[in-house]
Amino acid sequence: MNIAVVGAGISGLSAAWWLRRAGHKILLFERHYKPGGRMNSRRKAGLVVDHGERYILRDSPVLRELILDCGLQGDFFSIDQPIFTRLPDGSFKETAEEAVDLNRATFRDGLLMLPEALRRQLGGFFSIAVTAVEADPDNPGQYIVRTDPPLRASEMRVDGIVFATPAPQAVDISRPIHSSLNPAFLERAAAVTYTRCFTLIAALEEVKLARAFYGLEVPESDKSNVWWIAFEDTKCQGRGFKGWTSLVVHASPAGSERLWRMHENDALERLYREAREIVPELPREWRWARAKRWEQAQVVNTDDLPDFDRYPAAKGEALVEFCGDYRIGNGVESAAQSGRRAAENLIRKSEPESDE
Ligand SMILES: Cc1cc2nc3c(=O)[nH]c(=O)nc-3n(C[C@H](O)[C@H](O)[C@H](O)COP(=O)(O)OP(=O)(O)OC[C@H]3O[C@@H](n4cnc5c(N)ncnc54)[C@H](O)[C@@H]3O)c2cc1C
Repeated sequence: MNIAVVGAGISGLSAAWWLRRAGHKILLFERHYKPGGRMNSRRKAGLVVDHGERYILRDSPVLRELILDCGLQGDFFSIDQPIFTRLPDGSFKETAEEAVDLNRATFRDGLLMLPEALRRQLGGFFSIAVTAVEADPDNPGQYIVRTDPPLRASEMRVDGIVFATPAPQAVDISRPIHSSLNPAFLERAAAVTYTRCFTLIAALEEVKLARAFYGLEVPESDKSNVWWIAFEDTKCQGRGFKGWTSLVVHASPAGSERLWRMHENDALERLYREAREIVPELPREWRWARAKRWEQAQVVNTDDLPDFDRYPAAKGEALVEFCGDYRIGNGVESAAQSGRRAAENLIRKSEPESDE
């Protein structure tokens, strides 16, 4: 069967990988020029910064299979520095949960290595946004994928679809086929909301921290916009930035809203100044910094999410599935797991029923 997968974040890549393993032909569509979605890295002359999700869990079975299949085991390493929490009195606390946890892992050239390796295997249409999926009037049970820029319709006819974008886009793109979907599912998917995240990414020269740490969590408050400060020096090995440290500062959801309204340079300066108040070892000035705005960073209230499994996405045996971090739980592991589940559902529906 020909299956379209819309979105090359980790959920879509996972769905596509499992479907291809089952022998299906995959047409992967991604509106961005590169894969990964929110599991992404920025690279510049040897400086690597993971600016969305910061690490993945070594013991995730679904990710392990993808990593092995892509031959990335040798590039995968545990993070051997702790994560601290900043207490209201300004001290840093390392709790058992935040201490060195060798289950936290990343790739030598950034988290993006896994999406890139999957893309090499799966191919796909990049810098192509899917605008709508329609039922094919001439071929019942088939779908036509509409894109921007447009591709030839004859090539875009598929037997099944996996929507692997955040929920609002998935609801929107699937609008022409809503009559074949479950209204209870659509209602719940349309209600999923996301936090925004304003992120500072910077390259710093020679930062010596009093206590090495990988990340510092800063409880949300109205006094500071900072939510998370992360350092990384293992990945700054290239010619331009050898011996440097990369810094990532994520603003809190409320802080992101405040910074969003400011001029970008002012917002960057402010976030950096606040990070220096927390970590005084930071140099007065950065050598290179950029802002990254995540319009949909994390699903709000994962605990409140409905149990989507109780609401199948499609009516009957229609070959339509939805996956992403809103289906099972927040984060890369859950997103990858939801992609696998979407693939399994489609495979099950596509197989002829046995007579037994
Ligand atoms: C700043 C930040 C910090 C985070 N921190 C954590 C954390 O600490 N812990 C944690 O568990 N999780 C964290 N996350 C969340 C985690 O990264 C996501 O849950 C996960 O990556 C989501 O994967 P996904 O495949 O569901 O969605 P996405 O990665 O969003 O993938 C969806 C893809 O669909 C594409 N797309 C959208 N519309 C279209 C269209 N019309 N046509 C074609 N393609 C389209 C998008 O470009 C994107 O590539 C963080 C995210 C961010 C941004």
